[in-house]
Amino acid sequence: MNSNDHNAKDDSAAILTGAGVGHGSAILPDRPGLVAEYWQGAQEKKLLLQRCCRCSNCWHPLSDVCGACQSFDVEWFPSTGTGSLYSYTVVHHAVHPIVQGWVPYTLCLIELDEGPRILSTLEPESGQEPAIGTRARLEFRSIHSGFQLPVFRLLPNRKDNP
Ligand SMILES: [Zn+2]
Repeated sequence: MNSNDHNAKDDSAAILTGAGVGHGSAILPDRPGLVAEYWQGAQEKKLLLQRCCRCSNCWHPLSDVCGACQSFDVEWFPSTGTGSLYSYTVVHHAVHPIVQGWVPYTLCLIELDEGPRILSTLEPESGQEPAIGTRARLEFRSIHSGFQLPVFRLLPNRKDNP
């Protein structure tokens, strides 16, 4: 990939994030509540997770209630941003014209060290084939006007990785 390819991805993201089409967009939910809290955290480069104040259960995706004990006493906390590759798929077909400049890209399911699994994308690495179980680290990709999108990067396969 050269720098022009990367810029093309940024331009596509601009459409996704609402430039010229209003703030409500395909990837930036424009509504209050849990989703807004999550994305505000991302803009501060924090991956926010939820935890039950009663039983300490931790989960993702977002929910108002603990799935283990049904308590509504829930708190946010920032993930350490480390985990392992649980699964992935390489997307070659653009399912919408605005992601045409993104393909191929790798969707991943990362099992965070806190326990929950999160759907995200892998930052491209030349010469490194994704392998299940590879350690991964959270990063934030600025996709448009500084909007921070949580993504993951695989770490070299070494025993001393966090
Ligand atoms: Zn609970």
